[in-house]
Amino acid sequence: MTHPKHILERAGLEPKKSLGQNFLFDDGLLARIVAAAELSPDDEALEVGPGLGALTRQLAAAARRVVAVELDERLLPLLASELAGLGNVELVHGDVLQLDLAGWFAAPYVVVANVPYYITGAILRHLLGSWPRPRRLVLTVQREVADRLTARPPEMSLLAVSVQHYGRVRLVSAVRAGAFWPRPEVDSAVVRIDVDARHLAARSPEAEAAEAAFFRVVRAGFSEKRKQLKNNLRHLGHDDAAIGAALARAGVDGRRRAETLTVAEWAALSELL
Ligand code: SAM
Repeated sequence: MTHPKHILERAGLEPKKSLGQNFLFDDGLLARIVAAAELSPDDEALEVGPGLGALTRQLAAAARRVVAVELDERLLPLLASELAGLGNVELVHGDVLQLDLAGWFAAPYVVVANVPYYITGAILRHLLGSWPRPRRLVLTVQREVADRLTARPPEMSLLAVSVQHYGRVRLVSAVRAGAFWPRPEVDSAVVRIDVDARHLAARSPEAEAAEAAFFRVVRAGFSEKRKQLKNNLRHLGHDDAAIGAALARAGVDGRRRAETLTVAEWAALSELL
């Protein structure tokens, strides 16, 4: 493949650090990322930030349809010529965080992306919180974020609980900084998130209320670092007796810290509170 530096130089452009532009230029790695998504020829895929189109091209060969959303207007003519002739790619100029997913997908889809690191958390919140939901996400992220996403008790965080609530998260592989140009200052890794079928089933007011309750309880639980759970849960506005009763019924010791709870324990607590 042509080195991204040369593609940009030819167009008289420089990478924009502010948009998290670190382009992958290892064809073997790109193929492994696409393989990790286990796309079938019927699948529809979303790519966040196609950049110069290297991953997009491989996705187009594996999926029925690829929607690729790029914010940097300067890259669109390059992308259009790079992807010319690929009839199943739809290039969208815009901010993925403003994208109305229902306008682009009618059914669960697969996300494959080398995400702009400055908005990893916001992308996860937007995609997992929108409808339809992705059924799988294969994302290249900062190594530290990959570790937080795959964390287990007693090292959970608001991010880990929020994402693991939707499904199984696993590490696919580490990525060396030399696979990118420009080279990022941080280590990277590929993670795969498989969303549980129950989160893909038809939307209902009950499911939405349960989800809102879950996030209210988890956010309250993590509201103040190093505080015991029973103190943090006061942010929900319940009295101590109600909190104590819910903790007892869920079998959770209120002196524990939020980082030590499993996703199932948060689910039990949110149902009781
Ligand atoms: N996919 C390419 C690759 O793997 O080489 C580029 C990945 S680069 C890490 C991230 C890309 O996301 C850049 O092309 C950047 O312009 C784009 N981007 C940044 N913020 C975005 C946003 N809010 N919405 C859509 N794309 C965005």
